[in-house]
Amino acid sequence: MINQSLPDISVPLLQWYRQNARVLPWRSDPTPYKVWVSEVMLQQTRVEAVKPYFERFMQALPTISSLADAEEQTLLKLWEGLGYYSRVRNLQKAAKIVMSNCHGEMPRTPSELIKLPGIGPYTAGAIASIAYQYKAPAVDGNVLRVVTRLLSDSRDILSPSVKKDLTQKIEKILPDEIGAFNQALMELGAVICLPNGAPKCENCPVRTFCTSFSSQTQLQYPVKTPKKERKIEQKTVFLFLFQHKVAVCKRPPDGLLANLWGYPMADDYLAEEEVLPYLLQKNYCVSSVLTLQPSKHIFTHLEWHMACYAVILSKPPQNNTFFWSTRQELRDVYPIPSAYKKITKYLLETDL
Ligand code: SF4
Repeated sequence: MINQSLPDISVPLLQWYRQNARVLPWRSDPTPYKVWVSEVMLQQTRVEAVKPYFERFMQALPTISSLADAEEQTLLKLWEGLGYYSRVRNLQKAAKIVMSNCHGEMPRTPSELIKLPGIGPYTAGAIASIAYQYKAPAVDGNVLRVVTRLLSDSRDILSPSVKKDLTQKIEKILPDEIGAFNQALMELGAVICLPNGAPKCENCPVRTFCTSFSSQTQLQYPVKTPKKERKIEQKTVFLFLFQHKVAVCKRPPDGLLANLWGYPMADDYLAEEEVLPYLLQKNYCVSSVLTLQPSKHIFTHLEWHMACYAVILSKPPQNNTFFWSTRQELRDVYPIPSAYKKITKYLLETDL
């Protein structure tokens, strides 16, 4: 029903939100900076996972100016485990622009906000509406799910023209209480109109407006075209250990996981019997090799399938780019991405 306009759901939705909004650390005092950082963290990450990161980030970098001046390694460490590190790099780039071009104050309108690195239409709408009460929609995946179900709209929500049309439909019903309305719509999608499974329609404050509820076709929406298959890369990760220290190395400044730290890797999946010949051929002085659980990490367009080995060395190798890290430094200093989470956990829990 693509020509149908969106019913005005604002009154029951806001009433429900006032009674049911979750208590979240960025909601109590929604300054533009807090809304911005939380929205960027939430872009690819669940609310529960974001909470401790947000609190740690705000404690370490409480202002836009402190974010602009932070060392890169500090930033990456604060983001360690959240993934999609370009997000935090863009946060800092944008903070520098705000400090130099906007007298340290976040712009107020979506059209200005969107000029900053890492801020798209959704984040711009969220900052403008929640922090400044500017009348703009904030349309994320949760909102699109709710709206397509309300309207039984079977168009592909990944299509920009469909998203634009749905955004315009939402714009027509925006109430004055804009920040709360946008958050309420997102909240409804996050806790009631759930993805991947049955929505909790019996608790939904807008079910009397919902066409897919009346026809019991909720699960047919939203429609998304299937994503392309991810490329699979085979890797072998080595925990090289020498005198209880582990070899870490900095990743290149460009590309995947740029400037983060990781472990030495081979661009192939080495089977157990292939590991020792491989290491000897590279002139490592090997005392012993221990086979660890293989690991898999999924990036947006790519999967790493990793064989993992702990290798005790009798001599540190020469001519290499390794840094020898203690376990304490691994915890506190080096930003290690989630791709290495399993192997890092193993290392921190053993005494090799
Ligand atoms: Fe979503 Fe059900 Fe509410 Fe419709 S009635 S908006 S499908 S939770």
